[in-house]
Amino acid sequence: MKIRYFDNSATTRVKEEVLQEMLPYFSEKYGNPSSLYSMGRISKKAIEEARKKVAGLINCNPNEIYFTGCGSESDNTIIKGIAYSRRKKGKHIITSKIEHPAVLHTCQYLEKEGFDVTYLKVNKEGIIDLEELRTAIRNDTILISIMFANNEIGSIQPIEMISKIAKMYNIVFHTDSVQACGNIPIDVKKMGIDSLSLSGHKLYGPKGIGALYVRNGIEFEKFMEGGHQEKNKRAGTENVAGIVGLGKASELAKIHLKEHIQHVKELRDYFIKQVEEKIEGAVLNGGIQNRLPGNANFSFKNVDGEALLLNLDAKGICASAGSACTSGSSAPSHVLTAIGLEDDLARSSLRVSFGEDNTKEDVDYLVESLCEMIEKLRK
Ligand SMILES: *Cc1c(COP(=O)(O)O)cnc(C)c1O
Repeated sequence: MKIRYFDNSATTRVKEEVLQEMLPYFSEKYGNPSSLYSMGRISKKAIEEARKKVAGLINCNPNEIYFTGCGSESDNTIIKGIAYSRRKKGKHIITSKIEHPAVLHTCQYLEKEGFDVTYLKVNKEGIIDLEELRTAIRNDTILISIMFANNEIGSIQPIEMISKIAKMYNIVFHTDSVQACGNIPIDVKKMGIDSLSLSGHKLYGPKGIGALYVRNGIEFEKFMEGGHQEKNKRAGTENVAGIVGLGKASELAKIHLKEHIQHVKELRDYFIKQVEEKIEGAVLNGGIQNRLPGNANFSFKNVDGEALLLNLDAKGICASAGSACTSGSSAPSHVLTAIGLEDDLARSSLRVSFGEDNTKEDVDYLVESLCEMIEKLRK
């Protein structure tokens, strides 16, 4: 059976060019980047080339990029790192209720360590209230961590406004941009972002590699002890092949950003229109403006989201009910709850996230299958 993949927010396929670029670093070019002989230097050089490409995607200096093991590690590193290095200055952190678990659970962990965390609410479109942010700021606020774009409903936050507010009070502003990178333009200089996370496998690169951008001049404590890799901030022999893959994926993402946006947005808008025309009781979750171009999230009244997912799987369709990170738990999505959905409607949701490989014909098949399965499940 042909597989049709509509879960590009969960992960993406490694592009062929990315894979080809990575392969030599598993075989002949296996030197340790810390070794001084030429084989080591080849690996070291590959890392530095990749660093430039990642920096190019978000417009920072290459020496502001730290390679990590994943997006989650990037979030953990900077949130804990800022908290610990600024704890004498204050113990208050501001984030939102709709963050990815990598941020949410890190903040909850810090609460146990004696930090105070304010979780900002969002409106029904999944956007924070800047006035609420302003009033949440205290004398001891050390960090604001607000995601760039949400992984479930695709809502895009007013990042430049948030960074302006943070700057006014001399508070570090971190943004989890794992969903945004490669899907919308990001310029950390222009946007005034102090720190940002991204992940290889969400932008057509490999799994197990992430990057953390931290603006020069911002101190943070490292959490891994060991060797001096990554400017002494992230110990451990580098994942050279992964880094090379992330570099290539970033380079391609930058080159093709415009077409990518246009492609997924066209499919997404077509999908939304078809669903609204053909399926009764379909509610689009989140707004239509300030939304990732490839994201659609619907609740289908009186349909169990997980049952729908399994029925679609039987037709070769990959999509998501809630986010991949929370699937397996029966609690309704914290994001859908935060935008005001009742449990019933939150449990009947389906996220469809479009990617480069999808075609209009795929969307027709998806809509047709949805019509059929929803009718079946409602009986
Ligand atoms: C996927 C994701 C992460 C985690 O990235 P990993 O590389 O899988 O650890 C963090 N934040 C958001 C918004 C994500 O979508």
